[in-house]
Amino acid sequence: MPSLAIHPSLDSGFKATDAAFAGGTLVCNCARKPVKVRVQSDIAHNHACGCTKCWKPEGAVFSVVAVAPTDKIAVLENGDKLAIVDPTALIRRHACQDCGVHMYGPVERDHPFKGLSFIHPERFEEPGWAKPGFAAFVSSIIESGYDPAAMEAVRTRLRELGMEPYDCLNPGLMDYIATWTAKKSGALKTA
Ligand SMILES: [Zn+2]
Ligand SMILES: [Zn+2]
Repeated sequence: MPSLAIHPSLDSGFKATDAAFAGGTLVCNCARKPVKVRVQSDIAHNHACGCTKCWKPEGAVFSVVAVAPTDKIAVLENGDKLAIVDPTALIRRHACQDCGVHMYGPVERDHPFKGLSFIHPERFEEPGWAKPGFAAFVSSIIESGYDPAAMEAVRTRLRELGMEPYDCLNPGLMDYIATWTAKKSGALKTA
């Protein structure tokens, strides 16, 4: 029996991580004139995401998404095909208008993630990027029409794949966001 599908890059085993990975070129799905985006940095916080906003390939229940510093990201080719999916969203997802792949999504407003861009590492031409370390917004797959009765099976499968399931971000990132917010409000004193 085939196991429950999560994401094509994860379902049949994940390529070994290369500790020396230092970025590469993201390419969209267009056969002609693909958009190419250079990321001159390793990625961080790679994870599977169940939200309804992230780009996912055909057949995927979750996206695979990570961050890189926005100042290390540059559009190399065919940037005229990019458009911002939702200019009011925190993450300004730049998508290829022809194939729909989200190429990078910078956070520009005052927020703990300001200066970072969300990217989909499966679009790297180069192998070796870090394996997703957790699964975020797992319950949100129901919002895309996933059977609520199958959620325990999904969480079990995510754990089998080495990704602890959370219904928001993981505790490390949630603490980071709350700390930023508390320092801003004055509830926590900054040194
Ligand atoms: Zn494209
Ligand atoms: Zn998401």
